[in-house]
Order: sequence, then structure tokens, then C-alpha cells
Amino acid sequence: MKAFTYERAMDADAAIAAVTRGGARFISGGTNLLDLMKLEIERPAHLVDISRLPLRDIEDLPDGGIRIGAQAANSDTAADMRIRSRYRVLAEALLAGASGQLRNKASVGGNLLQRTRCPYFYDPLYGCNKRAPGTGCSAIGGINRIHAILGASDACIAVHPSDMAVAMVALEARIELLGSGGATRVVPIGDFHRLPGDTPEIETVLRADEMITGVVLPAPPPGRQMYRKVRDRASYEFALVSVAAIVAAEQGKITSARIAFGGVAHKPWRSLEAEGALVGRPATMATYRAAAELAMKDAAGRGHNDFKIDLARRTLCRTLAQAAQEG
Ligand code: SF4
Repeated sequence: MKAFTYERAMDADAAIAAVTRGGARFISGGTNLLDLMKLEIERPAHLVDISRLPLRDIEDLPDGGIRIGAQAANSDTAADMRIRSRYRVLAEALLAGASGQLRNKASVGGNLLQRTRCPYFYDPLYGCNKRAPGTGCSAIGGINRIHAILGASDACIAVHPSDMAVAMVALEARIELLGSGGATRVVPIGDFHRLPGDTPEIETVLRADEMITGVVLPAPPPGRQMYRKVRDRASYEFALVSVAAIVAAEQGKITSARIAFGGVAHKPWRSLEAEGALVGRPATMATYRAAAELAMKDAAGRGHNDFKIDLARRTLCRTLAQAAQEG
């Protein structure tokens, strides 16, 4: 590991001032960054520890929503009774991710910023445009079983690994950012992560002098919330495909729907087309299949991952059948 210096920030403004120095990075739980540093994929000269900042609270908002501080642990967020009762899809997604030990360390802000688990990204022996721009994408023509089927480019076919972010997309979360000089802005989570295009090394719209301070969840939409994750083993594994669904049905007809996929793209993937195909339609398998076809109409495999297209359709149908029935 490359040598680095370290400081612990005690307030947010000081942390931002410290990170604007050359070669500096924030560290919170470190559950992804430290692995990357050991492999020298990430080589920061200086770490600014923001894990002790007073950003751990989970607060009710007057409009019925909730605000989660960026330093709240994944485990604390999943265990919060307000999250469990009003934002069940988020609690289920958090508990589907990683292990208990990792969830204790991982922060909500860090979860949003975790890097892909594409194996070529972690192996300097292979070309990777995300790790070293201009060196090619070894997953294209390589082993690409876990890779993207939507929104990919010829520069990168990696997927975003978060479960939490998929649920937050279905919940239309907003991400609060703090920058130099106290500047603040709020970014809808659907606009926070980027598709790879020609610059897969740029994964979010976060600026170099900005920090995530919190995530706001609007008041929950009507309907049953559900997160379903399909993976190669039952725990401590990333999604091949996941679905976050929030579905309301009355008298056998779907009245509202939110659908987001994980494991299929460089960002959590909301399907407005699938949602549009559900609302006003009978809560039947024929409706779910039609929605699944629309959700995957632009999907394209790269060989080993071709199976994900049908897996995504089936996972959506299964989730909808359960959510609409219970809703
Ligand atoms: Fe690198 Fe992306 Fe290609 Fe993986 S898919 S090798 S992360 S460029």
C-alpha cells in the first residue's frame, strides 16, 4: 500500500477544506476504499476521516418524509423502526447487502459512492477504462457474467453494486451536498449516478470539493414496498439482478407503481416505461409480463450475461405478483 497521511475532521467545513488539497480523499467506513488502497487501485496521498462528523441522525421531517444523515451506519438505518415501517423497501435492500460486520461500518453516504465490483477493475494486469482511462475494457470479450445489460457503452459495461441506492431510487430520494464556502445543493438520486459513456471513471455528479451530508426520503408513496435480490449465494454477495417495487392495487387494478432495478446498469435503473405499463391495468401476470418486456426492450447482453435479461423479466414479474397481491 502506498504511504498516506491521515487526519480526522471534526466539522464539515474543515473536512471540505482539507479534501481540496491535492491527492486527498474522504474516508468514512472504509469498507470499499481500504480494499482499493491495498490493491493500489486507489492511491490517495492524504485521508480525511469524516466518520465522526455529527451526521448520523435519522430525523422525521414535517412533510412526512425522513432525513438520514450521511454518516448513519447501514445497520442503524436498517434497524430504525421508522425506516422499517414506512420505508420497508429500503430496510430490505440494506439487509440484503454485504454482511452484518460490513453494515455496521458502512455509511449511507459511502454506500452511494462505492465502486463497481467488476473483477478487471481490481486487477491491474488487465486493461480497464474506469481504472486507467484509455486502456480498454477487458470485460468486453472477457468474462462478463455480472455485467450490464442496460445503459452500457463500448468503454465500460460495469454495474453499480449498491442495493441501498436501488431502493432509494424507487423512493425518489434526494441527496444533500455541501461544498466549499458552505455552498449546498440537492440532487435527485436518479441524477446522481452517471452512465459510463466515454468517461466511465466519472461515476457521479459529485464535485471534488463536495461531501454528501444527508439523504432525504419524501413521504412514502402508497402501496406495498418490496426488494427482491437474486444472487449466486444467499448472503454476502452482490446482485445479479434486483428489483425494488412499490405497488398499490385496488379492486384488482394497479393504481400506482414505482420500479427500479439493480445489477443491470452503471447506475440504479428506474423503469418509467414499466411503471406506465402497470398503472390502470389489472393486477395479473399478463400485465406484469407486458411491463417486464417494456423494461427490458433495450437490454443487450455481451455473451456470458445474456441470461440476465430474462432473469430481470422474471424477477420483476415475481416481485410484482407478490407486491400487488399483498398491497
Ligand atoms: Fe473496467 Fe468497466 Fe470494463 Fe470493468 S466493465 S473492465 S470496470 S471498463
